[in-house]
This record gives sequence, C-alpha cells and structure tokens, in this order.
Amino acid sequence: MLVEENKPLAPFTTFGIGGPARWFAQATSEDDVAEAVAWARGRSVPLFVLGGGSNLLIADAGFAGLVLHIALRGISVAQQPDAAIYSVAAGENWDSFVQRTVDDNCAGVECLAGIPGTVGGTPVQNVGAYGQEVASAIHCVRAFDTVTERFVEFAAADCGFDYRRSRFNTTDRGLYIVTRVDYRLTLGGAPTLRYVDLQRAFPADSGATLAEVAEAVRRIRQTKGMLLVEGDADCHSAGSFFKNPVVTEEQVKHIALAAAKEPPRFPAGSGPANAGRVKVPAAWLIDQAGFAKGFTNGRAGISTRHTLALTNRGEATAAEVLALANDIANAVEARFGLCLEHEPVLLGFKSGSVSPGGRAVAEDEQKIAPR
Ligand SMILES: Cc1cc2nc3c(=O)[nH]c(=O)nc-3n(C[C@H](O)[C@H](O)[C@H](O)COP(=O)(O)OP(=O)(O)OC[C@H]3O[C@@H](n4cnc5c(N)ncnc54)[C@H](O)[C@@H]3O)c2cc1C
Repeated sequence: MLVEENKPLAPFTTFGIGGPARWFAQATSEDDVAEAVAWARGRSVPLFVLGGGSNLLIADAGFAGLVLHIALRGISVAQQPDAAIYSVAAGENWDSFVQRTVDDNCAGVECLAGIPGTVGGTPVQNVGAYGQEVASAIHCVRAFDTVTERFVEFAAADCGFDYRRSRFNTTDRGLYIVTRVDYRLTLGGAPTLRYVDLQRAFPADSGATLAEVAEAVRRIRQTKGMLLVEGDADCHSAGSFFKNPVVTEEQVKHIALAAAKEPPRFPAGSGPANAGRVKVPAAWLIDQAGFAKGFTNGRAGISTRHTLALTNRGEATAAEVLALANDIANAVEARFGLCLEHEPVLLGFKSGSVSPGGRAVAEDEQKIAPR
C-alpha cells in the first residue's frame, strides 16, 4: 500500500474545499484496509475513512492523520425466486449501482438515483430521498472492526438505522470501516411513488418503470441543484447541510407563533423515539429566519435552487462555509428556539469552532486508538 504525504484533499470532495492530508492511502482490497489500520496504529496516527467526499467539509488546515480512500470495487448478484441480493464493494459509485439495479428490473433503490458518493457511504447516514432510505434495502453490511482488527457482518436490523443515522455515525462512530454492502432488492417490483413530485409525474395507473422513475428523480434533483453536473455552481456542496428537525407538537405551536403561520410538517418516521413527533423542513425554518436561496456571504452561499444546500461559489474556504452555517443556525435558534443539526461530517475542525454554543459537535477525528 502506497502512503503519500501532504496530499491535497479538496479534489476528493464535492465542495472542492479543504487542506491536505498529512498521509493518504488508497484501499483497493480488504487486506489494504487492515494494513492501513495497522499502519496508523503503529504510528499512533489518527485515521479518517474517505468515500466519495460528498458529505464532507474538510478544514482549510487539512487533516493531520492518515486519510484512507476507499476504492474497493466489484459487484456480484445472487438470484432468489423473487429477489436479488447484490453484494457491492464499498468503493463502487452509488448512482452507477442504482442504474445497474433498475436496468436489471430490481426495485428498492430507484428513488435514490443521483445521490453522489460511494456504496460504503450509504449505510453510514442511512442515505435517503424521494420516499426511500437504504435502511429498507440493505440486507447486511460487512466492515472491518478497527479495535479487534477483524471483519464483521451486521444484519440491517443491527445497524441502528434511523433518519440520517446508523450505528456507524452515532454509537460506533469511527469504529468500523465498511468494505461491502449487500442489498436485497425485489425482482420485478413496482417503483416506490411516495414522493409528491413523483406521484405527479407518474399517476397510479401509469405503469412507470423503475428506470423511468430513477431518471425522473435525477431530473428533479437537477432542477434543485442536487445532482452533480459539470459546470453547475449549485452542486459544489455536500447536499443538504442541515437535517430536518424532529419536533414535538408543542414545538410546532411555538414555531407557528414565532412565524405567524403554520409550518409545513411531515411524518417523523416509525421509531419509538419519534412517537408524537413530526419533521419540520429545515429549509422552511431557514427561509423564515431570513436566509433565502442565493444568499451569499463572500465566496460561500446558499444554493440558488435549494435553501438547504450551502455552496462553494468559487474558491470559498471551509472557514467561510462554516461561518455561514453558524450564522444560519444562530438565526434559526434565535427565531424558533431550535438547534439545527448539520448533516455533513466536519473533518479537521477544532471543537468549539462549530455553531457557537456547542450545538454541533466538530469531529476532531481520532479514529484509531493506539493499543
Ligand atoms: C449534490 C448532493 C446531493 C446529495 N443528496 C443527498 C440525498 O438526497 N440524501 C442523502 O442522504 N444524502 C445526500 N447527499 C450526501 C451524500 O451524497 C451521502 O451522504 C453519501 O452517501 C456520502 O457518501 P460518500 O462516499 O461521499 O461519503 P464521504 O463524504 O466520503 O464520507 C461521509 C462519512 O461517511 C464515512 N464513510 C464513507 N465511506 C465509509 C466507509 N466505507 N466505511 C466507513 N465510513 C465511511 C466517512 O468517514 C464520513 O464520516 C448529497 C450530497 C451532494 C453533494
């Protein structure tokens, strides 16, 4: 395994922002993953796992550890009577995999078309959009346990999936390196048409194919700057920068009072922690707090097509993006008393530099503890 030094990281991210990695290596096999962990442990160096860099804001100073770029490739399929199990290496491109499944007429991830990043990144924050989440398609996740230095497999039920959450970004953050994800998809299944824009495009009796729905999702995403398209300034982002807050009915009343109008809301999800709660769109709250689409703060700004995406409008620094994120979070808190949680992972920032008041936790990644 080749270990490079002082490798610029900005080109590995969709923001196009971030300083260098002190050390950088690429894993093309499970052996490489184990070797990288041993390398970092042997030198007491922190290790950070990089996928497609599409949910990541890297500090201008970079990362003073080893960045391990996951580049394992390969897809195999096991057919069952009415389903197909796709075993997909973590470094495969997510959207290409989605296209492969719809071409094979297998249902389950068609609404997740157009999401950037790698397959290995999808279980980490339980990627979701347009009425689907990977939680309902994942069969199991294979990962390297950086403490025991052994490979383990988790059934979907053991991954702790919830809205933009899993064990991999909460209780076990930094403990596992995902090397393969198995998805169980329905052979000849109908597309999921839960999302209103999709229902409009495909009435119930339209007989829409999986491929048509995936293509429609990509088209809708493009209108919102949520598809990576060469030359589109709005997609130099990490997608949604803030999660939609899950709130109680009491909080909804408070928001309505503060805004002098009812906020839009939608179901919070089925977990027991969500009982009696609803999701309020963060985009609506941000808009009401005075930050509209197209707002700019120097070289950082809000997408001109989606209030939730913070963008690099050309040579922006991580500090500028973070300052804008903090201004937005502060304004929403002042107006509605709600703490917005950010969605992307922040790498290399010092604790306390993120969202004054310590609402959001910066990641001073120290992933591999020395023995
Ligand atoms: C334009 C745009 C639109 C987006 N739309 C959506 C959307 O609709 N829905 C959605 O959920 N997300 C969306 N995202 C966010 C992002 O694409 C997803 O979260 C994606 O799954 C991140 O994968 P990645 O490989 O790029 O991960 P990275 O950004 O490289 O890493 C993100 C986190 O996952 C960890 N990680 C990555 N790979 C592994 C691995 N193999 N093992 C262990 N940890 C790993 C990293 O350490 C890091 O903590 C969007 C982003 C952009 C830029």
